[in-house]
Amino acid sequence: MAKDSFKGAMKLKTIGLIGGMSWESSSEYYRIINEEVKNRLGGLHSARCILYNVDFQEIADYQIEGNWGAAARRLGDAAKSLERAGADFIVLCTNTMHIVAREMMEGIDIPLLHIIDVTAKEVLSRGIKTVGLLGTRYTMEQDFYRSRLESHGLRVLVPGEKDREMVDSIIFDELCLGQINEESRIHYIRVIEDLAKDGAKGIILGCTEIGLLVKSGDSPMPLFDTTLLHAVGAVDFALVSDQE
Ligand code: GLU
Repeated sequence: MAKDSFKGAMKLKTIGLIGGMSWESSSEYYRIINEEVKNRLGGLHSARCILYNVDFQEIADYQIEGNWGAAARRLGDAAKSLERAGADFIVLCTNTMHIVAREMMEGIDIPLLHIIDVTAKEVLSRGIKTVGLLGTRYTMEQDFYRSRLESHGLRVLVPGEKDREMVDSIIFDELCLGQINEESRIHYIRVIEDLAKDGAKGIILGCTEIGLLVKSGDSPMPLFDTTLLHAVGAVDFALVSDQE
């Protein structure tokens, strides 16, 4: 068999993953991407990817200080390393840090597969126009996430202040540390039901760890798990016809 044999005349681009925020969810990206490549290509195929894992404590400290410039520089260095190492495009494995996506990509010639665009496309393909958004407080409260979803024509609802605090603290104090608690799952389901009452027709799990806690069967309406969508989207983007 030829060394580079792919089904049809397909080739695989090299995916550059910026992970570690948290590694609990980066390992999901790694698993999903490899499973997806194996399912699509069969045999012993696996993904061509390079993972640059940052120290999340450093990034979380910048978040708390509001030092987004330093965070952008740190992630920009990671993106540059991936580009130099041969990545064809960048996948930033966190919703929150897309807050600095534009600054991070300055001076980098390979593209970024933007998590919000991949997610919005899937929501719209299901005929949904109003979505609830769960994520870190940065994602739920700052404009970068909501406005980019709105630019795709979506209406975005977020939980009230107390629930935003609870959703955020479960992310940082439990999920990012690998703790999955039934009580927290029940809290999340209640918040999802409240968003449904307010008019949401689907819920964006806009934090890459939430899918570890809440599964589709738990919710009365469609859940859009950004980790799954982004990882599958990365394989869609990586797998191209030989002619391209
Ligand atoms: N992984 C999370 C997200 O998707 C939160 C961690 C972070 O602050 O980057 O937003």
